[in-house]
Amino acid sequence: MDTVLILMHVEKDAAPAKSALEALGAAKDIAEASEAQLAIGLVGESLQAAANHIVGCGASRLVGVMGAEFGQSRYGSDIVAAEAVCRAVNPTIVIVPATSRWNRVVAGLAHRLGGRADTHVTELAAAKSGPTITRWYYRQRMEAVLQRTQRPWVIALETGCHASWNGDVGTAKIELVAAVVPEAAKRTTVTGVKAPVSGQQTIRPDAELLFVAGAGWTKKQSDGQAHVPEADSLIRGFLQVTNASLGSSKSLVDLRKDGQAVLTFMTHLNQIGQTGSSPRHLKGLSTCCHGEEPHAVGWRFISERRAVNLNPNCGWASGKADVLYVADAFEVMRKVNALLAAKQAQ
Ligand SMILES: Cc1cc2nc3c(=O)[nH]c(=O)nc-3n(C[C@H](O)[C@H](O)[C@H](O)COP(=O)(O)OP(=O)(O)OC[C@H]3O[C@@H](n4cnc5c(N)ncnc54)[C@H](O)[C@@H]3O)c2cc1C
Repeated sequence: MDTVLILMHVEKDAAPAKSALEALGAAKDIAEASEAQLAIGLVGESLQAAANHIVGCGASRLVGVMGAEFGQSRYGSDIVAAEAVCRAVNPTIVIVPATSRWNRVVAGLAHRLGGRADTHVTELAAAKSGPTITRWYYRQRMEAVLQRTQRPWVIALETGCHASWNGDVGTAKIELVAAVVPEAAKRTTVTGVKAPVSGQQTIRPDAELLFVAGAGWTKKQSDGQAHVPEADSLIRGFLQVTNASLGSSKSLVDLRKDGQAVLTFMTHLNQIGQTGSSPRHLKGLSTCCHGEEPHAVGWRFISERRAVNLNPNCGWASGKADVLYVADAFEVMRKVNALLAAKQAQ
């Protein structure tokens, strides 16, 4: 009988992350459709809290690799932990959430098991004959639907692509397996995490809305002047109230290297498009943005798209947005922020 294994990294005394619960939802669908067994593999410093959270999912086995050395994100310990779970379970399909930590080990894991790996999978379709995956190529311009005959097949599922598994909490019994971390791997130690303080972080993958800012925010306006500080405060104010994620056109993030006045919180990490990212959010609002790449590629996975542009003939904004507001984005966002502030004050 086939076995579908879902692998999760878990945090100490915490429920699994949303991305792990989404991958669990997908794994359960795949197992049910192909009448396979479902197994769960947990890796972390302590596993009980996470295991209790998912015990109701109907998995036939809950296998774990536990210990302080498996709490940190490090290839050398992650790969031996994943391999130990796989050797214990002997799965045909292995599904992992596409976190940076799992993405780093899936190729090595497939190699050690004599299988194949696919990353950046955006859809897993269940069928009796086995799963079919969907992924994008050529910077999200071409979509491919694939099946593989090789087993085990290791699949990294992107976040936001499947409904999370949700069920009753209980008391789980974990089958612990040993994994030996090689001495060479211990040379790498995670000494801490550096991240922007909460509130300054503008990339929010779980946000409902992606707000895209284009270079128009820094251009001379109808009075012949640029108004970068006002643009800065309008965008920042909107993000603070809505918790939207911030995307940018390439032209806007490139201004910094050109020595021009820039939006202080914007970096190249915010760039969307062909040479940027294609994030997944339910809604998108593009402002002062004209480019093909942000609209055609950066917005690829946005379901409801609106744009504000002064130019009614902006081909990409009008071609790719469901609604184009031909308006001054400064005026629009001043008004939007005032309405949001009034709503908050109620
Ligand atoms: C190989 C290659 C890869 C590229 N990859 C990317 C990529 O990944 N991502 C990307 O973004 N670009 C990419 N580009 C660049 C891209 O082609 C465009 O040049 C860029 O996206 C344009 O940025 P923009 O729309 O912000 O600026 P602009 O083209 O300068 O447009 C500014 C817009 O703001 C509007 N505007 C000005 N003031 C206001 C106002 N007050 N209210 C409303 N609207 C206003 C204007 O009408 C105009 O439409 C790439 C280019 C190449 C050649």
